[in-house]
Amino acid sequence: MIVRVPDLSSEVRSIDFTESPAALNEVLASSRRWSEQRFDEELHVDAEIYKTGSDVYYAGLIEGAVTCACPRCTDEFRWPLRREFRFVIVKADPDRDFEDDLGLDHYEGDEIDLGRLAREQALLALDDSALCSETCRGLCAHCGVNLNRETCDCPRHDRH
Ligand SMILES: [Zn+2]
Ligand SMILES: [Zn+2]
Repeated sequence: MIVRVPDLSSEVRSIDFTESPAALNEVLASSRRWSEQRFDEELHVDAEIYKTGSDVYYAGLIEGAVTCACPRCTDEFRWPLRREFRFVIVKADPDRDFEDDLGLDHYEGDEIDLGRLAREQALLALDDSALCSETCRGLCAHCGVNLNRETCDCPRHDRH
């Protein structure tokens, strides 16, 4: 979703769009940290945008889900994503460095790629310690069975 800055005004405009799993997975692939995660569903973006001078205000909500492997039992499960965001997007200025400023972004020329910002927000909503269930019993350290589905006769003295 690309918006043209000259088309924006001080009047708040709602802007809803979706990002495809393919586009999201591309961002995931570029970040090694999330190798256990995969997007199977579209990400919904429900936002508002307006402009004051050359500054663009873009705020809203992303909602979707990611498929991830439970770090305890290795089963895949669906983890809902929901995150509010708020950006001020300012015209690029070579004399200023915005790199580390969360919530501040910049644009060059006349166009802003709102999809890119939404995909970044989706990655920020990921959690690699999320479990399939709070009560996940994990795998048996001795025989490897999934203790959510099976029981085994191994000693349990090593359980935390
Ligand atoms: Zn689990
Ligand atoms: Zn066992």
